[in-house]
Amino acid sequence: MMIKVGNLVAEAGEKVSGYVSVPETVIKLPVTLINGKRAGKTVLITGGIHNAEYTGIETAIQLAEELIEDEITGCLILIHPVNISGFENRTMSAVAEDGKNLNRLFPGNPSGTVGDKICHFLVTEFLSQTDFYIDLHAGDGYEMLTPYVYYLGAAAPEVVKQSKAMAQKVNVPYMVKSFITTGGAYNYAGSCGIPSILIERGGEARWSEAEVSLYKADVKNVLRYLAVLDGEVKAVATESVDVDDVVYENACVTGCWYPRKKVGEKVKKGEKLGVIKDYFGKTLESCVARFDGVVLYQVSSLCILKDGPMITYGKIKS
Ligand SMILES: [Zn+2]
Repeated sequence: MMIKVGNLVAEAGEKVSGYVSVPETVIKLPVTLINGKRAGKTVLITGGIHNAEYTGIETAIQLAEELIEDEITGCLILIHPVNISGFENRTMSAVAEDGKNLNRLFPGNPSGTVGDKICHFLVTEFLSQTDFYIDLHAGDGYEMLTPYVYYLGAAAPEVVKQSKAMAQKVNVPYMVKSFITTGGAYNYAGSCGIPSILIERGGEARWSEAEVSLYKADVKNVLRYLAVLDGEVKAVATESVDVDDVVYENACVTGCWYPRKKVGEKVKKGEKLGVIKDYFGKTLESCVARFDGVVLYQVSSLCILKDGPMITYGKIKS
């Protein structure tokens, strides 16, 4: 069966790469279509919805290069990266033209700003023909994280179940059931009945071949589980532990951030997680753990911004 997104077309048994224009913008998305000889499910893989999350972007780039039509049943659609204008202007999460975070805008708006239009185009042109969705993230340029995977918690029961089964094929220590239903690409996909996961690995605007190779192995394992990629599903070395009651602590003031913990470290209720000081060393805010848990991600830049992220941790489910 033929697959088409924008001006890009791949017949059965064909792999095609090129730029796809987002209507009424100057944005051209780098896209690869890998259409297998045998009919089957369509999987969408996106890197760089956040453009400084290079581990996810490089993973999508390498997968687009490496995977071939002969080993695919159904179809793979890869976007690498989505926020191309942010990438080429080296912003952090923001679309260069409007300063917006794409993962807050879904399902988008065809008459909104550039970011709104990109999201609307992703929904109408890509998600509309997607059976399963894998979204590749990392810590942003100013963040570090421990590898983990989000799966859907607020979608239809069958979609939640399939999403969790996908997440269980990812070799990371923690998994988080997400109850967010709006704004994010994979959350929105879930509300459309598309089993979806979001993987987090790496951060601080860095990437390494070691991380990317782990990341590719994860994606390939999910694709094998979905019977889209040839080969046996591999047992994961680390079975992910569920983390719930996740707290996303934002900073109350702008200043200098001094974290006390490392990502992936356990925290105790009442323990100090970090402090924000002014430029004269005076403490402006202390962050204290509300319960025993594990740090998923935190800001690792000295600069921390009022109302922006500070630290995220959750309870390890026993
Ligand atoms: Zn992200």
